[in-house]
Amino acid sequence: MNPQERSIDKASQEMLSRMTAAGQENAWDRLAAQLPQCGFGKQGICCRICTMGPCRISKKSPLGVCGANADTIVARNFLRAVAAGTSAHSDHGRGVAEVFLEAAKGDVKDYGIKDRVKLFKLAKEFGVETKDRSVNDIATDVGKIAVEEFGKHEGTQLMARRAPAVRQALWKKFDITPRAIDREVVEALHRSTMGVDQDYKNLIMHACRTALADGWGGSMLATELQDILFGTPYPGKGEVNLGVLKKDEVNIVVHGHEPILSEMIVAAAQDGELLKQAQSVGAKGINVAGMCCTANELLSRHGIPVAGNFLSQELAVATGAVDVMAVDVQCVMEGLAQVARCYHTKLITTVDKARITGVEHISMDEKNVLNTAKKIVKMGIENYKNRGEVYIPNEKQTAVMGFTHESINYILGGHYRASYRPLNDNIINGRIRGVVGIVGCSNPKVQQDFTHTTLAKELIKRDVLVLTPVVQQSHAANRG
Ligand code: SF4
Repeated sequence: MNPQERSIDKASQEMLSRMTAAGQENAWDRLAAQLPQCGFGKQGICCRICTMGPCRISKKSPLGVCGANADTIVARNFLRAVAAGTSAHSDHGRGVAEVFLEAAKGDVKDYGIKDRVKLFKLAKEFGVETKDRSVNDIATDVGKIAVEEFGKHEGTQLMARRAPAVRQALWKKFDITPRAIDREVVEALHRSTMGVDQDYKNLIMHACRTALADGWGGSMLATELQDILFGTPYPGKGEVNLGVLKKDEVNIVVHGHEPILSEMIVAAAQDGELLKQAQSVGAKGINVAGMCCTANELLSRHGIPVAGNFLSQELAVATGAVDVMAVDVQCVMEGLAQVARCYHTKLITTVDKARITGVEHISMDEKNVLNTAKKIVKMGIENYKNRGEVYIPNEKQTAVMGFTHESINYILGGHYRASYRPLNDNIINGRIRGVVGIVGCSNPKVQQDFTHTTLAKELIKRDVLVLTPVVQQSHAANRG
């Protein structure tokens, strides 16, 4: 398959050609080697939940050894996928809540409370007393409640109370108001075990509740806490695509999902002493760029450029310009280790729960994150001199990003009358036909970025407002 069939993005196409010419493998090549993929797996009708299996459903054998039919098997597999996704998203949220609590108590010196207005709003929502109390005391109580939310034994998610009354009534009717993350995920694994829940409709309803626990619980809570800790984003300009890497600067790429360490890497890259060290090895500066969701966090808060999305990670290393790639959790391809070995790039894992065989691990010291960040930046500086051939595609686009509900309220209504009213009025009168969120990674099975950009363009053509993280749309500008 030629590069144009693999990606709509010119920068990716260039790097794909170069990797092929150099005989280096990437996700697209590994997909080609996997073809044809298992038809049973694709349809979700393969079950290996117990050791009487694996069982696969066909005309010849329509039932598994335990008697499970295709509906049950598909529903169980789907529920397990939802539980895994909820665990990943929300474990990130739990990590943020834990750091938030430590920062509030003063045990983590490198972070402070940046958005007090948001802290007070959340405190009110959680029923935390704010009168005549210090910011840190209020934040400590908020942090304790937030950590509890992930594993409490009783009640439903506090954040779910934000949903419109009609929506909450619907959840109640179907008994899917989300409870604690841990509870929903454990119950999902229990229900989908052999011989437990064998009614596909019942299984799917629990998948709905588990997903709601993530969206309205773990993810939304993590967003609130990150905004309080790191600052609430406000719209601003940023640059996107592989062209943000700099030939004459030390390039540090941060990749994954958690902003805890990458926030400090941004600070470390501005450290006077480290900038001098960079100059001493012949670099003009230190350039931090993001990859995947960590990139979104940094772009929207600090205007840090985005080097690419999920499928761009190996391509970035293949530029030969990445001196360090520091990865945290989720969406980090194991294949990166192989590509990094072909170049000078130092690949570093930073979170103890996410390591890669043969890759150097620098455990993030949560009590002194800035020190860990400085160590990583220093490694990039020292590695700058080891670069071989560098090729950075001359492709980058400008994006305006960082739209939060606070900023949209302000833009539409001003400081004193902040509201969604102009938006609501136009939805009610039919000029805007709705609002759609497009979220999700690219997949080598389809042309990189094609689905997201086509869907967005078609919706916009039909007067639908589209919201999306900038990473998904990072390459859209290439196609106009
Ligand atoms: S749970 Fe049933 S269908 Fe699944 S592997 Fe075991 S016997 Fe087979």
